[in-house]
Amino acid sequence: MEMWYTEKHTEHAGITLRVSRTLFSGKSPYQKLEIVETEEFGRMMLLDGLVMVTERDEFVYHDMITHPALFTHPNPRRVLVIGGGDGGTIREIVKHPQVEQAVLCEIDGLVIEKSIELLPSLACELQGNPKVKLHVDDGIAYIKKHTDSFDVILVDSTDPIGPAVGLFEEEFYRTVFAALKSDGIMVAQSESPFFHADIQKKMFSNLRAVFSIVEMYQASIPTYPSGAWSFAFCSKKYHPVEDFDRSRAAERPFETRYYNEDLHLGAFMLPTYVRQNLAIESA
Ligand code: SAM
Repeated sequence: MEMWYTEKHTEHAGITLRVSRTLFSGKSPYQKLEIVETEEFGRMMLLDGLVMVTERDEFVYHDMITHPALFTHPNPRRVLVIGGGDGGTIREIVKHPQVEQAVLCEIDGLVIEKSIELLPSLACELQGNPKVKLHVDDGIAYIKKHTDSFDVILVDSTDPIGPAVGLFEEEFYRTVFAALKSDGIMVAQSESPFFHADIQKKMFSNLRAVFSIVEMYQASIPTYPSGAWSFAFCSKKYHPVEDFDRSRAAERPFETRYYNEDLHLGAFMLPTYVRQNLAIESA
């Protein structure tokens, strides 16, 4: 019997992946968590039926949520991840030799537990790395208790539904601003410019009310809605293109499969329809 998993991205479009077996299915107080084996994309995590990560294409997302910020900031020593319970973002952060502490604040302990058990290629740094600190807590509450604390904050959240709704609001961005040091950088996953233009309009308006530097950059992620994905780069001081030290990224002391020093610059060059949606004037 053939098993297929389908995620609807709109009423009339979606993605379907052939599934060979279910490795875990259960509910936490926050959401339904499933981890399945697919024929084409390796293991895949779903939260409330939505694709979070697959073993085959997660390298794109985790490279791109992490490295543009950590190669723009001159000395990223303390980094916070809000969400990110699969561990992929923490795995990329600790590759940077300047990082002294990588803190994860994930609301759902079941996501961490099952990622460690069933997604070891992502969660490999969540246990046993002295630089990594795990908190099971609501990022909205956690951030309020940590002012002037972090060089970089990465918001690796689910879509703006359920416990993640508040992670897209101006009030949360103000608390992130306060938690960042005077030259801090925040990056947040910012949905699909192709399917989520309205969410992005509101999100970037909220970000621009708080940060002086707000830029979008893109990456193509096959299993996310439309494949065209984006991130919001928000900064108190350093611009991701003008202040980018290309040679430092080119001489990085570790391998990356998606990010590189040229793509860093290219990712911030946006298509016309995206510029128009965000009311960005051409340079
Ligand atoms: N890469 C995925 C994406 O772009 O959709 C996100 C992956 S990660 C699994 C998302 C995590 O955010 C989930 O584990 C979820 O529990 C967590 N999360 C949602 N709201 C949160 C909150 N308020 N505080 C902390 N973690 C939260």
